[in-house]
Amino acid sequence: MQTPTISIHDEWKIIKLLEENGFKKFRYAQIENAIYKNLITDFSSIETLPKEIRTLLTENCYYTSLSVHSAITSDDGQTTKFLLKTHDNKLIEAVIMRHLSGRNTLCVSCQAGCPMGCSFCATWKLWLLRNLEFHEIIDEVMIAIHHLAKEDKKLRNIVYMGMGEPFLNYANVKKSIEIACAQKKVDLSNRRITISTCGIAPVIEQFGEDFPQTSLAVSLHAPNDEVRKSIMPVDHTYPLDVLMKSIKNYIAKTNKRVFYEYIMIAWVTDRLEYAWQLAKLLEWQLAHVNFIPYNTWEWVDSNGYKPTSKIIIKKFQEVLEKSWIPSTIRHTMGDDIDAACGQLALKHEGESLATEKGNTIAKSKNE
Ligand code: SF4
Repeated sequence: MQTPTISIHDEWKIIKLLEENGFKKFRYAQIENAIYKNLITDFSSIETLPKEIRTLLTENCYYTSLSVHSAITSDDGQTTKFLLKTHDNKLIEAVIMRHLSGRNTLCVSCQAGCPMGCSFCATWKLWLLRNLEFHEIIDEVMIAIHHLAKEDKKLRNIVYMGMGEPFLNYANVKKSIEIACAQKKVDLSNRRITISTCGIAPVIEQFGEDFPQTSLAVSLHAPNDEVRKSIMPVDHTYPLDVLMKSIKNYIAKTNKRVFYEYIMIAWVTDRLEYAWQLAKLLEWQLAHVNFIPYNTWEWVDSNGYKPTSKIIIKKFQEVLEKSWIPSTIRHTMGDDIDAACGQLALKHEGESLATEKGNTIAKSKNE
């Protein structure tokens, strides 16, 4: 039997396959219903289809190209982290977060590794291995949907905050959002999707045009170029004035509040004067700041960074309050399972590299 080459999420190719084999296009709606609504994974069990189409699908299409390398749930049961393997053996991560309010959020990866080099992040230490295809991103989503269905739960939100920079793989990210929001497919509201960028300014405006309802989160992490450049190389290409100009245009198009992520690293991003600078930078717009306590990864070099104390984070919040800028402190979920972006994949890549080449990452971990 030939090896299947078409992802079941590739609508255009499947319709072409149906038509080339003399079947009517409307059959695709039955396939769609089986895959996304009835959660059928075995094409031979789609009873609404004639046997010939089931055979055609089995011979030519695959349900997912990802395999679950591991799935670990945190002690409190709120977080499940999947380490997934692509067909070419790249490791990527996806994380389900079950919030106490009952909503379930999936954090997806859009690249294997990342080229952006943010100094506080584990993912870039893998470098960019490759972009994920749109159907691989949807595979992540479907793995989560099936996992939650076993608990009688539904997926409600998707955040593109896993491995990779979404705006460096925008064509695939865009297509995956379209599938996630299509009524006949995953059927999530556009408002329940959030894209997080480290600040690829030109794509921010394009994103506003393509998805005016979808939320934008910007990894800001510093209120001035000097500090930002020292922790985020992207600031050399798109400094804050360029970034803020594209955000201004984005807001003019969408009239949406922008979410800003600000990592609290002791002695690096948490000087009180930075709180005032942050307030000044954002005071003109509808903004929400999410403070992220720095997550240490002891087993690998993390530049000696330490998390900021809660008292200082509260002081930052008080300063923002004075400028009417709402803020929250991110509740860190899944610390016991290395749930922060890139940690698990790096750990496993580090181990396999160490086995192959005596790589020092895993070696220092074991010392
Ligand atoms: S924080 Fe995001 S953009 Fe920066 S290196 Fe990590 S994954 Fe890439």
